[in-house]
Amino acid sequence: MFKKILVANRGEIALRIQRACRELGIKAVMVYSEADREAKYVKLAEEAVCIGPAASALSYLNMPAIISAAEVTDAEAIHPGYGFLSENADFAERVEKSGFQFIGPTPESIRIMGDKVSAKQAMIKAGVPCVPGSEGELPDDPAQVRRIAKAVGYPVIIKAAGGGGGRGMRVVHTEAALINAVSMTKAEAASAFGNPAVYMEKFLQNPRHIEIQVLADKYKNAVYLGERDCSMQRRHQKIIEEAPAPGIARKQIERLGERCVAACKKIGYRGAGTFEFLYEDGEFYFIEMNTRVQVEHPVTEMITGVDIVKTQIMVAAGEKLPFTQRQIQIRGHAIECRVNAEDPYKCIPSPGRITMWHAPGGPGIRVDSHIYSNYFVPPHYDSMIGKIIAHGDTREQALARMLTALSETVVEGISSNIPLHRELLVDAKFMTGGTNIHYLEEWLSHHQR
Ligand code: ADP
Repeated sequence: MFKKILVANRGEIALRIQRACRELGIKAVMVYSEADREAKYVKLAEEAVCIGPAASALSYLNMPAIISAAEVTDAEAIHPGYGFLSENADFAERVEKSGFQFIGPTPESIRIMGDKVSAKQAMIKAGVPCVPGSEGELPDDPAQVRRIAKAVGYPVIIKAAGGGGGRGMRVVHTEAALINAVSMTKAEAASAFGNPAVYMEKFLQNPRHIEIQVLADKYKNAVYLGERDCSMQRRHQKIIEEAPAPGIARKQIERLGERCVAACKKIGYRGAGTFEFLYEDGEFYFIEMNTRVQVEHPVTEMITGVDIVKTQIMVAAGEKLPFTQRQIQIRGHAIECRVNAEDPYKCIPSPGRITMWHAPGGPGIRVDSHIYSNYFVPPHYDSMIGKIIAHGDTREQALARMLTALSETVVEGISSNIPLHRELLVDAKFMTGGTNIHYLEEWLSHHQR
């Protein structure tokens, strides 16, 4: 096992990784930008290194600064968390070339999954169901593009192979608009992602977002840890996640999970990963794979009892997965509310000093957050300041516990989206379960104030 790990991230996930290290008896080196100097996990760290000014490009995205921090502190491995450099294959490669273990999959796996065309091809080969569409990149010939669209059936969506974060996509409803839309998406993709390749998929009208969590070691052992429903989104940002997904037959999830596990073995995947699917009319369609730990991993931890971050570290150290698929049991229901420093209805960021923070507690409640009373939320980063997770024997119990937790939570000095969560949790459709990915935005458009 490693003796020392460098945590190349900030905020709640940096703290989450620090906690996993403590539990494993590993020293965690925390890095921080000048804006995060006062963070508690930095103050409490045995070792901490300033890697640059507030701007992410000069600190949390600064590869040489992070690698030299690992060198001067004699760390053996680097955990990238999520966001920032976590899905950057070049970073993973530089980490390994510098003699450190990257806590994540191999650079090759990250590269294949980072290009959506090659990811989709790998999934088709592995027997994972995908959205019907072009076989790979769209050709230049407009006549051929029209033929493909006709075969797929309108509406279609044109997507950049190198896209991410909900950018580089365009929906096309008619043949008349097709060729122009393809050229525009290509031009945008070339300038935004440095890769003009685009592909086509059938545009699903009212899908849900369902994802499968996997864990794999380097000996080709892999398991899936059930699914998560992350359909409550705004501008492609998830706000509420839950597990299991309401109203989907276990048998169907099991079949899908087995496909994902087979795909992991086929591509030699190691570490934690998530297969993201759209779910419509009883069918699953793969859209992309995330090759890192996700924000919403705690709901899976709550229903399986598996510590995903600890397992990531163990398999990166060369250990075997400590459990088999048969040992993974789903127990109860879990739900997560992302607490953002933002106006609850207009969703505009609200950084600044938190004058008062009171965290909820009680049976089944978990809070993953780095904030405290008098903490200053820096304006330079994502507005998420923590996550509240509730577990119960049933979905109803988890929802009731979450509502109580939200009513106890106090955030003063800045705006937070807690009032929004409190309204959504008692919304009749959400309470029934199974809302689609457009539900939250439609709800917000009727509740603007
Ligand atoms: P990104 O990497 O930018 O997040 P994804 O491929 O994961 O891109 O797609 C992001 C979102 O775009 C999905 O969650 C979904 O809302 C929408 N989307 C993507 N592909 C389709 C599709 N074929 N039909 C309908 N919506 C889609």
